[in-house]
Amino acid sequence: MDDVDVVVVGGGPAGTMLACELRLAGVRTLVVERMTEPFGHAKALGLHARTIEEFELRGAHEDLLDGAPKLRGGHFASLPSPLVYEVLDSRHPYGLYRTQVEVEELLTARARRLGAEIRRGHELVRLEQDDTGVTAGIRGPDGEYQIRSRYLVGCDGGRSTTRKLAGIEFPGQEPSLAVLLADAKFSGELPVGEGMGPLRPYGVVRPEKRAWFSAVPLFEPGLHRVMVFWYGRTFPDRRAPVTEQEMRAALVDIAGSDFGLCDIEWLTRLTDSSRQAEQYRRGRVFLAGDAAHVTFPAGGPGMNMGLQDSMNLGWKLGAAVHGWGGDALLDSYHSERHPVGELVLRNTRLQVVLLDPDPNLRALRDTFTDLLRMPQVNRYFAGLGVALDIEYDLPGAHPMIGRRMPDVPLVTPESRRYLSEYFHCGHGVLVMLGRAAGASDAGTAWKDRVDVVTGTAAEPDDRLANAFLVRPDGYVCWAGDPVAEAAELRAALETWFGAPLR
Ligand SMILES: Cc1cc2nc3c(=O)[nH]c(=O)nc-3n(C[C@H](O)[C@H](O)[C@H](O)COP(=O)(O)OP(=O)(O)OC[C@H]3O[C@@H](n4cnc5c(N)ncnc54)[C@H](O)[C@@H]3O)c2cc1C
Repeated sequence: MDDVDVVVVGGGPAGTMLACELRLAGVRTLVVERMTEPFGHAKALGLHARTIEEFELRGAHEDLLDGAPKLRGGHFASLPSPLVYEVLDSRHPYGLYRTQVEVEELLTARARRLGAEIRRGHELVRLEQDDTGVTAGIRGPDGEYQIRSRYLVGCDGGRSTTRKLAGIEFPGQEPSLAVLLADAKFSGELPVGEGMGPLRPYGVVRPEKRAWFSAVPLFEPGLHRVMVFWYGRTFPDRRAPVTEQEMRAALVDIAGSDFGLCDIEWLTRLTDSSRQAEQYRRGRVFLAGDAAHVTFPAGGPGMNMGLQDSMNLGWKLGAAVHGWGGDALLDSYHSERHPVGELVLRNTRLQVVLLDPDPNLRALRDTFTDLLRMPQVNRYFAGLGVALDIEYDLPGAHPMIGRRMPDVPLVTPESRRYLSEYFHCGHGVLVMLGRAAGASDAGTAWKDRVDVVTGTAAEPDDRLANAFLVRPDGYVCWAGDPVAEAAELRAALETWFGAPLR
């Protein structure tokens, strides 16, 4: 008998999000987290549109939205043409200013409320898997012990122990850039960051040194995120603590002054090292979040992508634990999320190149600045950056298959509700629209996994078919006519939701 169904290693954003999804699917879940207390410093500062939508699918978005500043536009490599979010086809066409600390707090509380056990001060140190499960060696305050589970997911960050113990390669690019970061205040006046893009109001660019610094105001009055970039340099020791003196010297080197740097809350080093796990699954062991991919935080993709990995994986593991999801469903986690990771890493690498102030790259920066003024190009990079345009390669002809279900308002005999409201419990949803409603009893034989919703779209919408089968993570896996294409619908239900009830 297994001790739990799934062990999640790491209680960061990816791990706690996964724990919420697993509990929603009724999976016995244990999270082990090495640190006894939360990290406390906000690495990530914001949530993207698709992440907000995913929180909304679970009815968990309101606490995030409450009082949080919204960014109506973004930047691409700090170029002067901003990314326009308002044209994005979403009910949340903005970036949300919420720190990683706040996101982790919210998810940890939610995971516990849903019944996940979270053990702080417990670290994965050994790992073995066989045909029926995984045996994890955990080191806790009272020594080492073993936990047996059906599956184990490494959400344990860029230096993932899980990844190493599972023998999964992590190829990628070595650093070509050294960045010092401080969250701090200034007693002096900061220089206006001319030509540094819409979201970097303060700073200095030194093309001849291939270096620059920027200071971006944070939510707390007076607090700034300060970053000093040197291209063509690397740190001898990336993990060495940054001293206050080193940060001051860096500012003086680039700007001739430290501008009265004071009240330093956090100092760290960053590089543009960019790596991706060769496999997101090995047998019963999976990787999500930074354990699966690391990249420079240009455009803030890391935490957002990890949260979305967990949304993709949670219900699939739930299906496997309950016996209606097989190997093909579990494999689809890698085949769907690995290409997304690849594309996001490519997009970040491109921004790292464009952020280089080297005068030889001026033509490239100017060309991209012009390109971003073209609505179609702007829309492409905005949609890519906030993950609204993800398209999984799923079988089927309808153009919505593999894409996120738009959150359209639906009129039923009882109410007018947005579609997202039907996903709170983490089931799949079969949406029957207009004349399809009542024309088919498809779905009845999957009623423990798939909720059938019938109604009429409140507004005409060219994208909509008569019926949609939508997975618990909000992606369309079948669309068409439930009567004329009844066999196809049945096949899709079996593919994504297993054998029908007898
Ligand atoms: C300066 C900076 C700015 C960033 N800005 C953004 C941004 O704006 N937007 C964005 O989306 N992303 C941003 N990121 C990236 C983001 O912080 C990461 O992508 C995110 O933290 C990854 O979440 P995770 O849960 O995968 O891993 P982590 O947050 O690294 O969490 C992993 C957890 O696993 C635990 N752990 C490790 N090993 C073990 C073990 N053996 N046993 C048990 N527990 C273990 C760790 O203690 C940790 O709590 C930024 C990163 C940095 C450094």
